Amino acid sequence: MKFQYLGTAAAEGWPGIFCQCEFCKKAIKAGGRNIRTRSQAIVDDKLLIDFPPDTYMHVLYGGLDLASVKHCLLTHNHSDHLYPEDIGMRRTGFAHFTEEACLTFYGTEGVGVPVKKEMEDARLERDNRVAFQVITPFHPFTVEEYTVIPLRADHSASSDPVIYVIQKEDKTLLYANDTGYFPDVSWEYLEKNEIKFDFVSLDCTCGLLDCSRGHMGFSTCIEVKERLICTGCTKENTRFCLHHFSHNGKAIYDELVPLAEKEGFLVSYDGMIVRIE
Ligand SMILES: [Zn+2]
Ligand SMILES: [Zn+2]
Ligand SMILES: [Zn+2]
Repeated sequence: MKFQYLGTAAAEGWPGIFCQCEFCKKAIKAGGRNIRTRSQAIVDDKLLIDFPPDTYMHVLYGGLDLASVKHCLLTHNHSDHLYPEDIGMRRTGFAHFTEEACLTFYGTEGVGVPVKKEMEDARLERDNRVAFQVITPFHPFTVEEYTVIPLRADHSASSDPVIYVIQKEDKTLLYANDTGYFPDVSWEYLEKNEIKFDFVSLDCTCGLLDCSRGHMGFSTCIEVKERLICTGCTKENTRFCLHHFSHNGKAIYDELVPLAEKEGFLVSYDGMIVRIE
Protein backbone atom coordinates (compact mmCIF):
# COMPACT_ATOMS: atom_id res chain seq x y z
CA MET A 1 0.00 0.00 0.00
CA LYS A 2 1.02 3.56 -0.63
CA PHE A 3 -0.17 5.73 2.25
CA GLN A 4 0.03 9.51 2.00
CA TYR A 5 -0.66 12.27 4.50
CA LEU A 6 -2.18 15.23 2.64
CA GLY A 7 -2.74 17.37 5.75
CA THR A 8 -1.52 16.88 9.32
CA ALA A 9 -2.92 19.64 11.57
CA ALA A 10 -5.78 19.80 14.04
CA ALA A 11 -8.82 22.06 13.57
CA GLU A 12 -7.25 25.51 13.31
CA GLY A 13 -4.29 24.52 11.12
CA TRP A 14 -0.68 25.39 11.92
CA PRO A 15 -0.21 28.34 11.88
CA GLY A 16 -3.68 28.70 13.33
CA ILE A 17 -5.85 30.63 10.92
CA PHE A 18 -6.19 33.58 13.35
CA CYS A 19 -3.31 32.82 15.75
CA GLN A 20 -0.30 34.89 16.79
CA CYS A 21 1.14 32.48 19.39
CA GLU A 22 4.84 31.73 19.71
CA PHE A 23 4.54 28.33 18.02
CA CYS A 24 2.62 29.66 15.05
CA LYS A 25 5.23 32.39 14.56
CA LYS A 26 7.99 29.80 14.90
CA ALA A 27 6.34 27.55 12.29
CA ILE A 28 5.99 30.44 9.84
CA LYS A 29 9.66 31.33 10.29
CA ALA A 30 10.88 27.74 9.90
CA GLY A 31 8.47 26.99 7.02
CA GLY A 32 8.57 23.67 5.12
CA ARG A 33 7.27 20.71 7.12
CA ASN A 34 6.38 22.98 10.05
CA ILE A 35 3.41 24.33 8.10
CA ARG A 36 0.41 22.04 8.46
CA THR A 37 -3.02 22.00 6.81
CA ARG A 38 -6.05 20.20 8.26
CA SER A 39 -5.71 16.40 8.47
CA GLN A 40 -6.50 14.20 5.50
CA ALA A 41 -4.86 11.07 4.08
CA ILE A 42 -5.17 8.78 1.08
CA VAL A 43 -4.35 5.12 0.44
CA ASP A 44 -3.03 4.11 -3.00
CA ASP A 45 -4.25 7.46 -4.40
CA LYS A 46 -7.82 6.17 -4.28
CA LEU A 47 -9.13 5.56 -0.76
CA LEU A 48 -9.47 8.97 0.82
CA ILE A 49 -9.69 9.46 4.60
CA ASP A 50 -11.66 12.52 5.76
CA PHE A 51 -12.88 15.60 3.91
CA PRO A 52 -11.58 18.73 5.70
CA PRO A 53 -11.89 22.34 4.50
CA ASP A 54 -8.31 22.04 3.21
CA THR A 55 -9.33 19.32 0.74
CA TYR A 56 -9.35 21.97 -1.99
CA MET A 57 -5.89 23.11 -0.89
CA HIS A 58 -4.74 19.48 -1.29
CA VAL A 59 -6.22 19.44 -4.79
CA LEU A 60 -4.42 22.67 -5.69
CA TYR A 61 -1.03 22.03 -4.10
CA GLY A 62 -0.94 18.46 -2.71
CA GLY A 63 -1.43 16.40 -5.87
CA LEU A 64 -4.88 15.13 -4.85
CA ASP A 65 -6.82 14.06 -7.95
CA LEU A 66 -10.24 14.36 -6.34
CA ALA A 67 -12.26 13.84 -9.49
CA SER A 68 -10.93 10.28 -9.76
CA VAL A 69 -11.51 9.34 -6.10
CA LYS A 70 -14.56 7.10 -5.63
CA HIS A 71 -14.38 6.32 -1.90
CA CYS A 72 -13.90 8.42 1.23
CA LEU A 73 -13.84 7.14 4.82
CA LEU A 74 -14.97 9.71 7.39
CA THR A 75 -13.69 9.47 10.97
CA HIS A 76 -16.20 11.85 12.59
CA ASN A 77 -18.18 15.00 11.95
CA HIS A 78 -15.90 17.74 13.34
CA SER A 79 -15.28 20.48 10.81
CA ASP A 80 -11.57 19.72 10.39
CA HIS A 81 -12.56 16.23 9.15
CA LEU A 82 -15.83 16.89 7.40
CA TYR A 83 -16.66 20.07 5.49
CA PRO A 84 -19.97 19.17 3.82
CA GLU A 85 -20.34 22.43 1.87
CA ASP A 86 -17.54 21.35 -0.46
CA ILE A 87 -19.21 17.98 -1.08
CA GLY A 88 -21.97 20.13 -2.59
CA MET A 89 -19.50 21.37 -5.21
CA ARG A 90 -19.94 17.97 -6.86
CA ARG A 91 -23.42 18.98 -7.99
CA THR A 92 -24.55 18.98 -11.59
CA GLY A 93 -23.33 22.15 -13.29
CA PHE A 94 -20.48 22.69 -10.80
CA ALA A 95 -18.60 19.47 -11.65
CA HIS A 96 -18.45 17.86 -15.09
CA PHE A 97 -17.45 14.22 -15.40
CA THR A 98 -16.32 12.13 -18.33
CA GLU A 99 -17.02 8.81 -16.61
CA GLU A 100 -18.73 7.25 -13.56
CA ALA A 101 -19.40 10.14 -11.20
CA CYS A 102 -20.45 8.63 -7.87
CA LEU A 103 -18.28 9.28 -4.80
CA THR A 104 -19.25 7.14 -1.80
CA PHE A 105 -18.68 8.42 1.73
CA TYR A 106 -18.54 5.96 4.63
CA GLY A 107 -19.30 7.05 8.18
CA THR A 108 -21.34 6.44 11.31
CA GLU A 109 -24.98 7.56 11.67
CA GLY A 110 -23.94 10.86 13.26
CA VAL A 111 -21.54 11.59 10.41
CA GLY A 112 -24.27 10.81 7.89
CA VAL A 113 -26.56 13.60 9.10
CA PRO A 114 -24.62 16.60 7.66
CA VAL A 115 -23.54 14.63 4.57
CA LYS A 116 -27.11 13.59 3.76
CA LYS A 117 -28.36 17.14 4.26
CA GLU A 118 -25.83 18.39 1.73
CA MET A 119 -26.71 15.52 -0.62
CA GLU A 120 -30.32 16.57 -0.52
CA ASP A 121 -29.69 20.31 -0.84
CA ALA A 122 -27.40 19.82 -3.85
CA ARG A 123 -29.43 16.92 -5.32
CA LEU A 124 -26.32 14.76 -5.23
CA GLU A 125 -28.07 11.44 -4.69
CA ARG A 126 -30.70 12.04 -7.36
CA ASP A 127 -27.96 12.79 -9.88
CA ASN A 128 -25.82 9.85 -8.68
CA ARG A 129 -22.99 12.20 -7.71
CA VAL A 130 -22.58 11.16 -4.07
CA ALA A 131 -23.66 8.19 -1.97
CA PHE A 132 -23.44 7.64 1.77
CA GLN A 133 -22.94 4.26 3.41
CA VAL A 134 -23.57 3.92 7.13
CA ILE A 135 -20.89 1.97 8.95
CA THR A 136 -20.99 0.39 12.40
CA PRO A 137 -18.03 0.11 14.77
CA PHE A 138 -16.49 -3.38 14.81
CA HIS A 139 -18.34 -4.44 11.62
CA PRO A 140 -15.76 -4.91 8.84
CA PHE A 141 -16.74 -3.83 5.33
CA THR A 142 -15.16 -4.08 1.91
CA VAL A 143 -14.15 -1.18 -0.33
CA GLU A 144 -12.70 -2.49 -3.58
CA GLU A 145 -9.65 -4.56 -2.53
CA TYR A 146 -9.57 -3.21 1.04
CA THR A 147 -11.10 -4.58 4.21
CA VAL A 148 -11.95 -1.70 6.51
CA ILE A 149 -12.71 -2.12 10.21
CA PRO A 150 -14.03 0.86 12.16
CA LEU A 151 -13.07 0.84 15.86
CA ARG A 152 -14.49 3.03 18.60
CA ALA A 153 -12.49 6.17 19.38
CA ASP A 154 -12.25 8.15 22.62
CA HIS A 155 -13.40 11.53 21.32
CA SER A 156 -16.41 13.84 21.63
CA ALA A 157 -19.38 11.44 21.58
CA SER A 158 -21.57 13.87 19.62
CA SER A 159 -19.12 13.63 16.69
CA ASP A 160 -19.87 9.84 16.51
CA PRO A 161 -16.16 9.05 16.02
CA VAL A 162 -14.32 5.97 14.78
CA ILE A 163 -10.74 5.14 13.91
CA TYR A 164 -9.95 2.83 11.01
CA VAL A 165 -8.07 -0.41 10.46
CA ILE A 166 -7.37 -0.78 6.73
CA GLN A 167 -6.15 -4.08 5.29
CA LYS A 168 -5.01 -5.06 1.82
CA GLU A 169 -3.64 -8.57 1.28
CA ASP A 170 -1.23 -9.17 4.17
CA LYS A 171 -0.67 -5.49 4.99
CA THR A 172 -2.55 -3.66 7.71
CA LEU A 173 -2.55 -0.05 8.85
CA LEU A 174 -4.24 1.84 11.65
CA TYR A 175 -5.40 5.43 11.18
CA ALA A 176 -6.14 6.56 14.72
CA ASN A 177 -7.38 10.12 15.03
CA ASP A 178 -9.20 11.86 16.50
CA THR A 179 -8.93 9.78 19.65
CA GLY A 180 -7.58 9.66 23.15
CA TYR A 181 -6.18 6.45 24.63
CA PHE A 182 -8.28 3.78 22.91
CA PRO A 183 -11.46 2.61 24.69
CA ASP A 184 -11.38 -0.91 26.21
CA VAL A 185 -13.78 -2.25 23.54
CA SER A 186 -11.29 -1.32 20.82
CA TRP A 187 -8.34 -2.91 22.64
CA GLU A 188 -10.41 -6.06 23.16
CA TYR A 189 -11.30 -6.22 19.47
CA LEU A 190 -7.67 -5.87 18.41
CA GLU A 191 -6.52 -8.57 20.81
CA LYS A 192 -9.34 -11.01 20.13
CA ASN A 193 -8.98 -10.74 16.36
CA GLU A 194 -5.19 -10.84 16.53
CA ILE A 195 -4.80 -7.80 14.29
CA LYS A 196 -1.15 -7.14 13.49
CA PHE A 197 -0.16 -3.76 12.12
CA ASP A 198 2.51 -2.83 9.60
CA PHE A 199 1.89 0.88 10.14
CA VAL A 200 0.25 2.78 12.98
CA SER A 201 -0.71 6.47 12.78
CA LEU A 202 -1.55 8.00 16.18
CA ASP A 203 -3.33 11.18 17.27
CA CYS A 204 -0.68 13.48 18.82
CA THR A 205 -2.79 16.64 18.94
CA CYS A 206 -1.46 17.69 22.35
CA GLY A 207 2.21 17.32 21.37
CA LEU A 208 4.40 17.61 24.45
CA LEU A 209 1.47 18.21 26.84
CA ASP A 210 0.16 15.31 28.91
CA CYS A 211 -3.22 14.39 27.54
CA SER A 212 -4.95 11.06 27.14
CA ARG A 213 -8.70 11.74 26.85
CA GLY A 214 -10.27 13.01 23.63
CA HIS A 215 -6.87 13.47 22.05
CA MET A 216 -3.38 12.26 22.89
CA GLY A 217 -0.01 13.79 23.64
CA PHE A 218 3.38 12.24 22.92
CA SER A 219 3.56 10.44 26.30
CA THR A 220 0.22 8.69 25.68
CA CYS A 221 1.29 7.74 22.15
CA ILE A 222 4.29 6.00 23.74
CA GLU A 223 1.91 4.09 26.04
CA VAL A 224 -0.27 3.05 23.10
CA LYS A 225 2.79 1.87 21.19
CA GLU A 226 3.97 -0.20 24.16
CA ARG A 227 0.56 -1.77 24.66
CA LEU A 228 0.25 -2.65 20.95
CA ILE A 229 3.65 -4.36 21.15
CA CYS A 230 2.77 -6.15 24.42
CA THR A 231 -0.57 -7.42 23.10
CA GLY A 232 1.00 -8.85 19.94
CA CYS A 233 -0.58 -6.31 17.57
CA THR A 234 2.70 -5.52 15.85
CA LYS A 235 5.14 -7.20 13.50
CA GLU A 236 8.93 -7.15 13.48
CA ASN A 237 9.12 -3.99 11.37
CA THR A 238 5.98 -2.13 12.41
CA ARG A 239 6.35 1.63 11.99
CA PHE A 240 4.64 4.19 14.22
CA CYS A 241 3.89 7.74 13.23
CA LEU A 242 2.67 10.75 15.25
CA HIS A 243 -0.05 12.74 13.48
CA HIS A 244 -2.77 15.47 13.79
CA PHE A 245 -1.01 18.33 15.57
CA SER A 246 -2.11 21.45 17.38
CA HIS A 247 0.10 24.53 17.85
CA ASN A 248 -0.84 24.28 21.55
CA GLY A 249 1.34 21.14 21.76
CA LYS A 250 4.51 23.23 22.17
CA ALA A 251 6.76 21.68 19.52
CA ILE A 252 6.93 22.48 15.82
CA TYR A 253 7.89 19.64 13.43
CA ASP A 254 11.62 20.42 13.64
CA GLU A 255 11.52 20.27 17.45
CA LEU A 256 9.42 17.12 17.70
CA VAL A 257 11.37 14.95 15.24
CA PRO A 258 14.48 14.33 17.43
CA LEU A 259 12.30 13.51 20.47
CA ALA A 260 10.08 11.20 18.41
CA GLU A 261 13.04 9.42 16.84
CA LYS A 262 14.39 8.48 20.28
CA GLU A 263 11.11 6.68 21.02
CA GLY A 264 10.87 5.03 17.60
CA PHE A 265 8.27 7.30 16.02
CA LEU A 266 8.05 9.05 12.68
CA VAL A 267 6.38 12.48 12.61
CA SER A 268 3.82 13.17 9.89
CA TYR A 269 4.08 16.19 7.60
CA ASP A 270 1.94 17.40 4.73
CA GLY A 271 2.70 15.33 1.63
CA MET A 272 4.55 12.55 3.48
CA ILE A 273 4.39 9.20 1.69
CA VAL A 274 4.77 5.87 3.51
CA ARG A 275 5.24 2.68 1.48
CA ILE A 276 3.74 -0.29 3.26
CA GLU A 277 5.22 -3.22 1.36
ZN1 LIG B 1 -9.37 16.79 14.38
ZN1 LIG C 1 -0.82 29.45 17.43
ZN1 LIG D 1 -12.36 15.92 16.34
